[in-house]
Amino acid sequence: MPANSDIFAPPDTAADARPNLIGMSRAEMADAVAEMDEPRFRGDQLFQWVYNRGVTDFEAMTNMAKPLRAALAERFSISRPAVSRDLDSIDGTHKWLIKLADGNEVETVHIPESDRGTLCVSSQIGCTLNCKFCHTGTQRLVRNLGPMEIVGQIMVARDHLGEWPSAERPTIYERQLSNIVMMGMGEPLYNFDNVAKALKIIMDGEGIAISRRRMTLSTAGVVPMIRRCGEELGVGLAVSLHAVRDELRDEIVPINRKYPLAELLAACREYPGARNSRRITFEYVMLKDVNDSVADARELVRLIAGIPAKVNLIPFNPWPGAPYERSSDEAIERFAEIVRIAGYPSPVRTPRGEDIMAACGQLKSDSERVSKSIRTAAE
Ligand code: SAH
Repeated sequence: MPANSDIFAPPDTAADARPNLIGMSRAEMADAVAEMDEPRFRGDQLFQWVYNRGVTDFEAMTNMAKPLRAALAERFSISRPAVSRDLDSIDGTHKWLIKLADGNEVETVHIPESDRGTLCVSSQIGCTLNCKFCHTGTQRLVRNLGPMEIVGQIMVARDHLGEWPSAERPTIYERQLSNIVMMGMGEPLYNFDNVAKALKIIMDGEGIAISRRRMTLSTAGVVPMIRRCGEELGVGLAVSLHAVRDELRDEIVPINRKYPLAELLAACREYPGARNSRRITFEYVMLKDVNDSVADARELVRLIAGIPAKVNLIPFNPWPGAPYERSSDEAIERFAEIVRIAGYPSPVRTPRGEDIMAACGQLKSDSERVSKSIRTAAE
């Protein structure tokens, strides 16, 4: 159970009393072995076994002496979060419902494409943002995910895809898990420290080794954290824009009341590393008769002028009780055309995994009741 003083923090008590190596940085592993009077390079070896080879058993660490393997096993665990359910879509999309040590659940989605495979990773259980068109927003936030729980989502996917390198296959070309998008449940920039630690582990070339160039972090617009995200992580930035006038954005993306459009776009203009070969993605959900007019498209083009950008149009994905409808194909095409003629790529995101409720905005776990009891305990 999280401490009452900080109901959003991940719990520090795991089912296993031994600290889990998953979620530890390379420096932390080096410190851990140094405490056992081992040279620090053993920490690098441990890091490689855990994150590059994906081993779950200390006995597999063949470049370490047997007594050292035993000593490590006594002190540490290598445990993934459990998978409580996994679902296959007819389009190849795969969704895992991941059960964390405290019983809460989050969702992770794998989206295979011809030239890549993208894993959509969650950063929080639920979300505090309450965007009107998003299913996750109807779930009250339970808490932030810790580094282990974020890295653990990738480890679970790699286990399932059988994509760990081995002595026989040290390099895997054409990976099914080649890209990561922080676009699952939650607002990653409201959990920056844990997300940053996890992404640094994931991008380390000695470990999971997915380059920052293949990672995109999506934010609804936590303006004060945007620069840090670029400077510290250097990942691609996606911004959930969805409306081009403050009046409408205040209503459908309520964080806009705190950080309005002008401030958001100024932060995008200054995003470190944005250039034509590394454009900022503006996500724009297409809601019928709400934000899909020709005037909206023209205003969008005016707003993003001068930003190296692309505009990702997302046909609205319905969920039970949703107050919106998807724009017509004609409206989406008309909107895309205006953006394209102005010089910005404007791909329409094909809905993936709709049959298993895995498409954008459809993720929601059942962890709500727990949240209420934690909140009551905290009051
Ligand atoms: N909190 C972050 C990360 C979530 S990313 C953010 O807002 O960017 C998930 C993306 O799916 C966001 O762009 C979100 O606005 C979009 N989305 C949410 N609900 C949707 C729905 N019902 N249909 C289509 N896209 C949706």
